[in-house]
Amino acid sequence: MNQIFNLSKTEFTAYLECPLKFYLMKQQNQFTKEGPRGLRSYLHYPFAASKGIYWHYNLNKFLQEHKQDFLNGAPPPPITISKPIFKLFWEHEEHRLAVDPSNWYPIALELYCSSQTARGIIDRVESIDDQSCRVVEYKSNPSKSGFLTEELLFYSFLATVSKDFNEKIKRTVTQAGCYFYSTGDWTCREISRDDLLSFRDYLAEVRKEMLTGNWAPRHNCSLLKQDCSYAVVCTKIPEKLLKEL
Ligand code: SF4
Repeated sequence: MNQIFNLSKTEFTAYLECPLKFYLMKQQNQFTKEGPRGLRSYLHYPFAASKGIYWHYNLNKFLQEHKQDFLNGAPPPPITISKPIFKLFWEHEEHRLAVDPSNWYPIALELYCSSQTARGIIDRVESIDDQSCRVVEYKSNPSKSGFLTEELLFYSFLATVSKDFNEKIKRTVTQAGCYFYSTGDWTCREISRDDLLSFRDYLAEVRKEMLTGNWAPRHNCSLLKQDCSYAVVCTKIPEKLLKEL
């Protein structure tokens, strides 16, 4: 890997989970740029990942398709009866609309941002006022969000240094939130300039650590539970080779 390598949010959190997972992921994805999410086949994705991508895509599609229904105070569409995730999402959006109608509709959905050293897709950006905004991440469930603080800071930092973001949004990120679509929970935190500066330094340290070549697996790995989609590769690496990585 080159000294200036481009790090995605997924690679970053993979490293925090397990350096070996990061290594395997990065080996398979050596392109420095990766475009925005588009229509694609998810057939070869691990089930959990394809399910997540499905919901990310469909929640935003639902919002776009029903924007006028929300604004007209229409009743929830029939799909909210058969799919509880849409019901929870409808209620969440109705509440947001009631609290702040003028800033309700997101100013961007699935916004791909990049800088020389980082990249990622911000699920949505919401205006707070003319000067400030909130980046929002979708996640399935609070219990499966081990590195949420780091993720939200990564996106906030990426937004701040990304030309794409600044040209399109023209606002400063002052909040970062997460909507959990399986439970309907919502969490949000303030993002200060100091938070961004400390995260910048932290990320620089993590990047340095990544380049030391010490990609030993985490000893508390949950291999047996098959939580990691890289277990299928990882378990086939001979012990001797692992030490040489
Ligand atoms: S299975 Fe465990 S050790 Fe292997 S890559 Fe995944 S988290 Fe790391």
